[in-house]
Amino acid sequence: MRYISTRGQAPALNFEEVLLAGLATDGGLYVPENLPRFTQEEIASWAGLPYHELAFRVMRPFVTGSIPDADFKKILEETYGVFAHSAVAPLRQLNGNEWVLELFHGPTLAFKDFALQLLGRLLDYVLEKRGERVVIVGATSGDTGSAAIEGCKHCENVDIFILHPHQRVSEVQRRQMTTIFGENIHNIAIEGNFDDCQEMVKNSFADQSFLKGTRLVAVNSINWARIMAQIVYYFHAALQLGGPARSVSFSVPTGNFGDIFAGYLARNMGLPINQLIVATNRNDILHRFMSGNQYVKETLHATLSPSMDIMVSSNFERLLFDLHGRNGAAIAGLMDSFKKDGSFSVEQERWTEARKLFDSLAVDDAQTCETIAEVYEQTGEVLDPHTAIGVKAARECRRSLDIPMVILGTAHPVKFPEAVEKAGVGKALELPAHLSDLFERNERCTVLPNDLKAVQAFVSQHGNRGKPL
Ligand SMILES: *Cc1c(COP(=O)(O)O)cnc(C)c1O
Repeated sequence: MRYISTRGQAPALNFEEVLLAGLATDGGLYVPENLPRFTQEEIASWAGLPYHELAFRVMRPFVTGSIPDADFKKILEETYGVFAHSAVAPLRQLNGNEWVLELFHGPTLAFKDFALQLLGRLLDYVLEKRGERVVIVGATSGDTGSAAIEGCKHCENVDIFILHPHQRVSEVQRRQMTTIFGENIHNIAIEGNFDDCQEMVKNSFADQSFLKGTRLVAVNSINWARIMAQIVYYFHAALQLGGPARSVSFSVPTGNFGDIFAGYLARNMGLPINQLIVATNRNDILHRFMSGNQYVKETLHATLSPSMDIMVSSNFERLLFDLHGRNGAAIAGLMDSFKKDGSFSVEQERWTEARKLFDSLAVDDAQTCETIAEVYEQTGEVLDPHTAIGVKAARECRRSLDIPMVILGTAHPVKFPEAVEKAGVGKALELPAHLSDLFERNERCTVLPNDLKAVQAFVSQHGNRGKPL
């Protein structure tokens, strides 16, 4: 499998290269040159497979030529073996024909584990083969950092540095990062905000001289391997609900358009999906595009669903590429004008094409809390605020009651107690067994000033399993 850039000017790469690449050199994102397509018979034959075996069948075409089957199988079995639920991604029924796909049974209780547990293992495998070491520098406002650290903690060939804004992430989220010890794990609390952290990561990619030749790798959602891993659970859910003989719809709480883009790919790979609902919080750039063909950058709002607090959706470019007949020059032009004006719209027929599959809704904090309360009353289930946004959008935008509606349950409610409290749900939330002593564990973290040079000096002094590069 070869991968090409959405802006058409960067060299095509194989899977191994794309795993290590991050952004393409032309500023675009990598996508498969040709998407694999499965027949209905083939998909039907996967019913009842354990999650890791389904994952092998769905993802195999993407890694062909880079990872031998036997090795890939082993990696997948290990990856999904660490999940606390034997079904890995169980479906829970809320209402008639309405289901939550619980994607929060991984080590850090959010769906990002599906991709980052795999990414860590794939990186280590590929690096071992190449005899290379890499450094990861990432910024987090919460979920990504802990999932990346958990995913990389056993990597022999990776040193990971995660920057978070000092005293500005929740205690559960901070402890999920700082209580994981390893000579290759480095938590840095920056005396600044999340944007400052992100800016430092961006600047570190732009000038890598402080790394003395060691490669820098990105673990944010633009990494192709993360998208790839997320395709699998769409197949997994549909197969349990009568697919592919029957089509299924999905409602996806989204910020960077990563998770829902994986659903779009699943459909193009042959899975009958009737409708994909883009569910956003008040940071609704995607909803404004889907409802009115206006992709316009606005200011950032802090919400009760912080993992979707974004101004621009980085993966949306991948959908735009397809909507424009995979014309890289057209995308480069669109992105240039976005950079200049902070906005664009697309030709009417391209927008209409997107709307055949996608619907959308923006849900504010008050509606989020109402939905948490409503679902608790109806079912006794406590939803996290991101999942609640998915439920609200599913109920508002649903096209057919005969087609099963699956809401992606992106996080465990215990991670976001503020929203659950505000919703007035009286039920005490407990940490799952593997995290029950989280508040007693020791923490390890270095506080650094909001200064790029200080951070880069720290990385170069500790980037080789705690020793200087
Ligand atoms: C990251 C995250 C999201 C948003 O995912 P995207 O891929 O950016 O759309 C939603 N919910 C939770 C809990 C997350 O951690």
